[in-house]
Amino acid sequence: MDEGRYACVRLFSGLDKPLTYSVPARFAGVVRAGCIVRVPLRGGVGAGVITRLSSSPEEAGKFKIRPILELVQNLRALTPDLLDLAFWIKDYYASSMQSVFESMIPAVVRSGRGELALKEIHMPVRPDLGVLESLRRRAPRQYEIVSFFLANSSPVLKSELCDKFSLSAVDSLVDKGVLKETSRRVKRTAYDDELSSAETIPSSGHVLNDEQSAAFSDISKLLDSKKYATHLLYGVTGSGKTEIYIHAMRKVLSEGGSCIFLVPEIALTPQTVGRLRSRLGDCGAGLVVWHSGLSDGQRLDAWRDLADGSARVVVGARSCIFAPLSNLRLIVVDEEHDTAYKQDKAPRYNARDVAVVRARLCGALCLLGSATPSLETLYNTKRKKYSVSRISKRIDGCVLPTVMIADMRREKGGAVLSRLLLDKLADRLDKGQQSILFLNRRGYAKVYECPDCGYVAECPHCSVSMTWHRGRGIVKCHICGYEARAPMLCPKCGSERAKWRGYGTQKIENLIADAFPSARVGRMDADAMRRRDDYRRVLGDFRRGKLDILIGTQMIAKGLDFPRVTLVGLVDADISLHMPSFRAAERTYQLIVQVAGRAGRGDGAGEVVIQTRTPEAIPIQYAKRDDMESFLEEELQNRKEFAYPPFRRIVRQLFKSRNPDKLSYYAEEFAKAAEKRLGNICEIRGPSPAPIEKIEDFYHWQLWYFCGNVSAVVSELVKLRAEFPLDEDVSDVLDSDPVD
Ligand code: ADP
Ligand code: ZN
Ligand code: ZN
Repeated sequence: MDEGRYACVRLFSGLDKPLTYSVPARFAGVVRAGCIVRVPLRGGVGAGVITRLSSSPEEAGKFKIRPILELVQNLRALTPDLLDLAFWIKDYYASSMQSVFESMIPAVVRSGRGELALKEIHMPVRPDLGVLESLRRRAPRQYEIVSFFLANSSPVLKSELCDKFSLSAVDSLVDKGVLKETSRRVKRTAYDDELSSAETIPSSGHVLNDEQSAAFSDISKLLDSKKYATHLLYGVTGSGKTEIYIHAMRKVLSEGGSCIFLVPEIALTPQTVGRLRSRLGDCGAGLVVWHSGLSDGQRLDAWRDLADGSARVVVGARSCIFAPLSNLRLIVVDEEHDTAYKQDKAPRYNARDVAVVRARLCGALCLLGSATPSLETLYNTKRKKYSVSRISKRIDGCVLPTVMIADMRREKGGAVLSRLLLDKLADRLDKGQQSILFLNRRGYAKVYECPDCGYVAECPHCSVSMTWHRGRGIVKCHICGYEARAPMLCPKCGSERAKWRGYGTQKIENLIADAFPSARVGRMDADAMRRRDDYRRVLGDFRRGKLDILIGTQMIAKGLDFPRVTLVGLVDADISLHMPSFRAAERTYQLIVQVAGRAGRGDGAGEVVIQTRTPEAIPIQYAKRDDMESFLEEELQNRKEFAYPPFRRIVRQLFKSRNPDKLSYYAEEFAKAAEKRLGNICEIRGPSPAPIEKIEDFYHWQLWYFCGNVSAVVSELVKLRAEFPLDEDVSDVLDSDPVD
């Protein structure tokens, strides 16, 4: 018998193990591994992915093998490299196959919605009398359908036909060759994103300068080798990295290959998207921008374009690493250090790391780019696992901005904005230049405290203080979203001396309005940006010079290029510096460099003011001396000393329960069992309460496994969890390479 008579299928829901089905003749040659199919289950129908075809049944056991019912998509959802990748993610991130498929395959593709309606049935020739007669006698339901087509020669949508007649009768006639099934593809409105038009940048290319040419030649050689490699493009902001990505992508496209371009957050990088769109438009390769605003129909069409090769470039965030492209030759991961690449629900994968694995599976080049590479990536270049090209200068000799420190301990009476920053702002307003103020904390004020009774306004469901949103007269929990009326007096003792401390972006906006009544100020944070359109409007106004000062959270620290900005203020560098994480220094350095990168991208020389109460902190000192290179060396040494990543890897186990006593008991018992079982392959630390112990009424404890080999630890842990006596009130998750 032929090769693919049996298919091994993994379902999208229900049983999480391989099942065996037979492949009916009508699908022979059409179904392949990686296709989505519908199959009969006990008591119903399910859908899943074919992971393997074989000539003999494998996992059937004593069960009767039933045939596949239907092919949900006539294109492969998972190419061979994506199938391998699915299993890798499942094992490495200790997740179920089902959650992996959920991340890898869009819901609209899995369900086959929108697609069924496009299948058409017609009767190519009138069956001869003998056939008609035997149908009439033996299969009256099929005869009815044939009679219908005798009276109606035009094709009918299969879904409509199945409203009138039975699906199985229609399928039998198709199997017998009496009826023919065809798919007609109806193209929906172009999957153009709203970001495009307003931000599209003139499309002419640039002649690469010397440093860029050298980097591009390194990359070209790697592409020509047609072998797997990972390469870091390490260049300051504004050094022309994007230009190099574009050159590399054009090369791949002109040679018939396809590319993936990953950005941390698509809504925050409209300019990059606009540039790619205009610069790759003439390659005739079709470009898909993959973002959350696509309707189901648009997403299905975009997906089909990628799967059938009508589009060979896809730009998007995290999940776009799973695009079903064939002949994939280049994966670009822009801003590779960005923690947005890590998914915070199962499977807890990091798209940057998955990109490296996928590149390895299909022999492609993974090109990581950053002005502030993660220590993991840097360490890999030192170990020669990755190669690297450096770009040290900004384009056209634009100088890097001057960094100044404002020591907030010297400012009078708890001032939020330093004299230095206010003076610089006044100067820019005078000159008609623009400024950006950056503060990674939204809301108006942070903590409500009573000096008389010690009351602190905390979220009733989480162990964090409530933030004041003055405009709406409410307090809000930034973890779970709980809202309440803002207190006027201490709710516990009635004292009038209870006061708000700390500040967020809303307060900065008020302070600026008081200090510079005539300045035109815009604010960008999750509160001000309620609709997708708001980003575009505020950014557009700022670009056109309709705003003087832009205040925002981290969403403005990324990738934006505003030539008229000559001043950037980092309002509170201490937020990231004092995070409870061994990555605090690394995050602070990345933040400073990224924020500084927004200043002086045009003709004017830029200045950066960093406000801090700890000016002696190491990343701040190095930032001031403009010597991040030495900072990285020193930080690597620190990490080595304490055997933190990148010198070892971490797996974190997070336990969760509404009952704090059961939780700590369970975590401690598990830790003892883990010590016995895994003590020889890793170092176990904890258990201890998580930094935010209570979230939405659930308490959290954690255990840390420091190890050399994540897969080995995860596979042992998965076994141990299966054996460990369950407590239904406690749940746990594993997180490989956690980011915080
Ligand atoms: P990065 O991605 O490193 O921040 P970009 O590629 O965005 O840098 O380049 C910064 C600016 O310089 C952009 O406006 C870009 O159009 C321009 N640019 C890039 N390369 C060149 C070049 N070789 N000649 C002239 N301008 C260039
Ligand atoms: Zn009180
Ligand atoms: Zn809360």
